[in-house]
Amino acid sequence: MARKTVSRRCWVSVDATTSLNDIDAGSTPGFSGEEASAREQTEVLRTELVELQARLYAESRQRLLVVLQAMDTGGKDGVIRKVFSGVNPLGVKVARFERPTEGEMARDYLWRVHPHVPANGEITIFNRSHYEDVLVVRVNSLVPRARWKLRYEHIRSFERLLADEGTRIIKIFLHIDRDEQARRLQARLDDPSRQWKFDPHDLEQRKHWSAYMTAFRDAIAETDRKRAPWHVIPANHKWYRDWAVMNILVRTLRDMNPRFPPPAFDPAQFGVIA
Ligand code: ATP
Ligand code: MG
Repeated sequence: MARKTVSRRCWVSVDATTSLNDIDAGSTPGFSGEEASAREQTEVLRTELVELQARLYAESRQRLLVVLQAMDTGGKDGVIRKVFSGVNPLGVKVARFERPTEGEMARDYLWRVHPHVPANGEITIFNRSHYEDVLVVRVNSLVPRARWKLRYEHIRSFERLLADEGTRIIKIFLHIDRDEQARRLQARLDDPSRQWKFDPHDLEQRKHWSAYMTAFRDAIAETDRKRAPWHVIPANHKWYRDWAVMNILVRTLRDMNPRFPPPAFDPAQFGVIA
């Protein structure tokens, strides 16, 4: 059963009756001011993110999973590049979920996902995720309806398992609109340094825009939970998108409050090392 989300957890709240098409992808909820000041705030928060991540890694007792979902060109790669820039790569991993291989398809859809969840001290970013199995799979009828319908419950249980066992979870949907996607696809096509990112398959999926919006809305409404909350971020403006993701990350890490572990010895005992 879908249930109402609580607006404090989402930058834009979404429930089973929301149409994502009605959410202004060019809006900037929670921020009023000039782009330059958003960029400045993002930089200030970056210093804090770097410090918090260093503590998380040193402490090695807590773990954070960030699930990133978006339509093609929605900015997943941009968020990873820009928000995490400067963070110690030792403690950050990115897991990317593409079309399943034959071996993956021969098993249940969570089989390939679970090995990538973060370990103690780590932040893992899922660039796409198990949600593809109720998004692209649903829109393209890759499995029968009766099968993907059951997956919301599996996903809720899977994420509850992770949370029960100590993984903090943040789920982010970067929301661009169809016109913005057209601009970004065109930009990829026109710029030789970005043509490698252009995928004709994206044009096929673009035809199913409204089916995707319904699939995203249902996925979000069905799986938004207190310990696995969704954040719907209007993402036409990249500066706002980065500011919003940075805010969510820093707030979450502040709340996790990782600490440098105290030494198991008295540093004074060693005096000055010659
Ligand atoms: P970019 O934005 O750089 O193009 P991307 O995330 O689109 O990155 P691609 O390798 O271009 O990465 O595409 C991955 C493709 O794999 C997407 O079209 C996605 O829908 C598809 N995919 C991911 N998981 C599944 C799945 N479980 N079943 C079917 N298709 C999937
Ligand atoms: Mg792609």
